Amino acid sequence: MKKSTLKKYAHLIAKVGGNVQKGQNVELYVAVDQEELANYIVEECYKLGANTVAVRWTSDKVEKTTLKKESIKSLSHFYDYELAKQQYLCDELPVMIHIESSDPDAMKGVNQAKVAKVRMAQYPVIKPYRDKRENKYQWTIAGASSPAWAKKVFPNLSKKKAVEALWDAILKTSRCDEDPIKAWEEHNADLAKRTKYLNSLNLDYLHYTSKNGTDFKVWLLPNVDWLAGGEKTLGRHVFFNPNIPSEECFTSPAKGKAEGIVYSTKPLSYQGELIENFSIRFEKGKAVEVHAEKGEKLLKHMISMDENARYLGECALVPYDSPINNTGILFYNTLYDENAACHLALGMGFTNCVHDYEKYTQEELTKMGINDASIHVDFMIGSKDLNIVGYTRDGKKVQIFKDGNWAF
Ligand code: ZN
Repeated sequence: MKKSTLKKYAHLIAKVGGNVQKGQNVELYVAVDQEELANYIVEECYKLGANTVAVRWTSDKVEKTTLKKESIKSLSHFYDYELAKQQYLCDELPVMIHIESSDPDAMKGVNQAKVAKVRMAQYPVIKPYRDKRENKYQWTIAGASSPAWAKKVFPNLSKKKAVEALWDAILKTSRCDEDPIKAWEEHNADLAKRTKYLNSLNLDYLHYTSKNGTDFKVWLLPNVDWLAGGEKTLGRHVFFNPNIPSEECFTSPAKGKAEGIVYSTKPLSYQGELIENFSIRFEKGKAVEVHAEKGEKLLKHMISMDENARYLGECALVPYDSPINNTGILFYNTLYDENAACHLALGMGFTNCVHDYEKYTQEELTKMGINDASIHVDFMIGSKDLNIVGYTRDGKKVQIFKDGNWAF
């Protein structure tokens, strides 16, 4: 990896992703083996005028040992300094930058029932803090190539070649090849055009069909928008891009209103383990039946995390001919794979899809039909022949997707 390329990528992450403003604090979450990239990101943040950049080093290896050895009680406990940190995040609203480079199988062998118990114990403590700062801060997720992840994606290449190949794929799909800033401006403008059209339709529900067996209807909420690409923070109105890359137009569907069955078209990496070839059947918006060739137990744990984990929180449209899918690479990472295919997410919905959402409380938004849950897990259902027909509130039928791609 050339230093100049890595620097350019770091600039893209700090400027287009987090859009760090003068005087802001930054929290950077990055794995211990990404020191060079981390250093460049820190440098770029200061160039943009950051006040302080705190690097929070992460390690799958250590996390796995911790999850295995520490008791549920201890793992679930919050010390005062940890709560103080949560309060700090609410008070200062630092920019959150997450760099993903994990091995998709990193947590294989960890007792997922134990992890689920810990998450459930932590959730009520974290939730009030999460709600307090929701939509108010800039955040971004981007990827970085690591040997373990690269070998999973390119098993036939040597470690060195695999790492290089994954870097190439990351930079290309992140539009980091030519002038990334200009490329992202154009890309965001294109996505904005599509969401504008989708919003103008005033869709009541979508009907998905595919030869793989998918036959699924999902209802949308009035007053809830389709969003894409970048968004603005509440209060300071800072425009940032939460995902690098991002190809999706998404919305938060009506809780409790989805019928039919969907079949996965890509494996899902959940909590460091893979779930493959699965189907989910919905009744009254609730996932009532799931099957998976691999990872069925984990999938069942996932939808049982809490009472709302079985309901949908996202409905996203991504053409089959997306730049990411066209690489032909399966990343085994949601950041990339979700931007390569139409997907749904189980769990928490997006409150910022609601018109003037800042005027409502979290409870009011939940009552409106935006799902609130402890998880938000995307899973891919886009296929080459996916057909999506939209039915508008005034009774019109509109082709949204034809043969896996946008019909407009
Ligand atoms: Zn999505």
